[in-house]
Amino acid sequence: MVGVVLLQLIAELDYVQTHYAALLMVGAVILQLTVELDVKRVSAPVLSVVVVVQQHRPQLVDLQQTYPGHIMAILCGVVSKHSTQLRTIHNLLTYLDLGIYDCSVKGTIAMTFDDGPYIYTNAFLDYLAGQGVVATFFVTGNNLDKGAIDDPNLPWAAIIRKMDSAGHQIGSHTWTHPDLSTLGETDRRNEMYRLETAMVTLIGKFPTYMRPPYSSCEANCQATMNALGYHIIYYNMDTDDYDNLDNIQVSKDRVTGMMQGQSPASIGFLSIAHEIHQVTATDLVPWMVNTLRTAGYRFVTLGECLGDPRANWYRTG
Ligand SMILES: [Zn+2]
Repeated sequence: MVGVVLLQLIAELDYVQTHYAALLMVGAVILQLTVELDVKRVSAPVLSVVVVVQQHRPQLVDLQQTYPGHIMAILCGVVSKHSTQLRTIHNLLTYLDLGIYDCSVKGTIAMTFDDGPYIYTNAFLDYLAGQGVVATFFVTGNNLDKGAIDDPNLPWAAIIRKMDSAGHQIGSHTWTHPDLSTLGETDRRNEMYRLETAMVTLIGKFPTYMRPPYSSCEANCQATMNALGYHIIYYNMDTDDYDNLDNIQVSKDRVTGMMQGQSPASIGFLSIAHEIHQVTATDLVPWMVNTLRTAGYRFVTLGECLGDPRANWYRTG
């Protein structure tokens, strides 16, 4: 009951708009104190959290679909003891996310690339270095019949180390690129753990950011990612490159359209493309770099565009 009163008090004081994260933290602390005693007893404060979040961030929470199991799972996930690895939660607030679509730092563009590394990635890294551009790579462990990224006999390990040392950010795009929403809990976690193991081998750390394959991460997947301490990342600039490989001008026109009516003062872009396609690596991205740079945007990593300190982008345990 204390939790309900506290949450309603905060809501009525209209602190919610500016203290949304603090509200969730209150909810999390309440859960942390009570969840192991009697799950039913925390349902009222959980509902309060869901209602308030739903009012102020309706795009993130569908009350019908998420109450109560989803929010419960997320908040419980913060204090989860089920991980097979000891996880240090650097900043409780940063993990109470249902998904991130936008950059919070205006005037930035965080280009993100999914599904690699692949046969074009190495030259693509050289191109980015020549431009002084940093980006974010959501890497997949073993897809496209390329073999495992931590296989010492394959080129991928060196490419991932090169990404890291060049200042790019690396996120997880799972081990085998499944639809995470369709997997059971064990398989879903193993998709994340296997990539983490490889990343520790390759660069001594593993990411705190992930992009779900097919942009599919429903309530079950969201709960898992929150329990494992991952940010779930989507995008606000979809180049749709993989649908336009034969006519990449369509993707360029999409980007141009999304830039229209915007300026570096009004928006930060979080784009998605796939450097596993040659036309993306050698045509679309160079065009984007020129176009967005000319328009005054600054190329940054995902963490930078979110204002998240570098120390939070990875963990070692
Ligand atoms: Zn993908």
